[in-house]
Amino acid sequence: MRLPARLLAKEWMELRVVGCHGGETPKHRTSAFVIDERLAIDAGSLTSGLDLEQQFRLQACIVSHAHLDHIRDLATIADNRCQADCEPLIVAATKQTISALKKHFFNNVLWPDFSVIPNKARPTIQFLELKPEKKVLIAGYQVQSVLVSHSIESAGFIVKGPDATIAYSGDTGPTDRLWELLNAEQDLKALLLEVSFPDREQKLATVSGHHTPRTLIKDLKKLLKPQDVPTLLYHIKPVFQREVEQECARLKGVNLTVTAIGDQYVL
Ligand SMILES: [Zn+2]
Ligand SMILES: [Zn+2]
Repeated sequence: MRLPARLLAKEWMELRVVGCHGGETPKHRTSAFVIDERLAIDAGSLTSGLDLEQQFRLQACIVSHAHLDHIRDLATIADNRCQADCEPLIVAATKQTISALKKHFFNNVLWPDFSVIPNKARPTIQFLELKPEKKVLIAGYQVQSVLVSHSIESAGFIVKGPDATIAYSGDTGPTDRLWELLNAEQDLKALLLEVSFPDREQKLATVSGHHTPRTLIKDLKKLLKPQDVPTLLYHIKPVFQREVEQECARLKGVNLTVTAIGDQYVL
């Protein structure tokens, strides 16, 4: 797939951590990441963590699944962008996620339907359905979604720019296909991987479709060379932050970093 010429001049990808937690406090923000100021991955904190100019610069948001901690700021960013007469924001997700957003969120009850506001010809948000594993060009990046294992339909993403490829697990417990696809990637610069609960909360993690450090290490070892893939951990529940960090620090043969709000990675 050919990428736009303006992207070919740059030799790196910037990844900004806007929110990286599985819950919220004044010091914790729910999941949202931004690539090169134009492509957001999940919308858990796009308005609580970005100023207006940064919100207006976004071209698209790829959404892993419909849980509130990943979509909530789509409501407020739509409102802000509508008032500023921005270009439509592409909201890309798999079928069930889009249908949940339409039916339960932008449904003219919880929030106005910004896919027809201010008008259908040039709306504030534009839904784009992603077919699992089909590669599509979004905001200049090749995006491939892959279904993972969560309590509702949830997708991970492989995002390829001209100079770097990164992957995002989405909310997931143990899964297989994501790892198969990642093993076929030549130049994976970073993997954003969820971990939510400490090992002693395994039951809760299993029923809710999340990782503990114990299942995370087992899954990461499905990579052929896990130590070669910089793995950025996110989605830790604020209540368990320290405990999960300590358990992850003891894991061997992998390359783990716990992300923090405001981190910027040049990849
Ligand atoms: Zn979830
Ligand atoms: Zn979540």
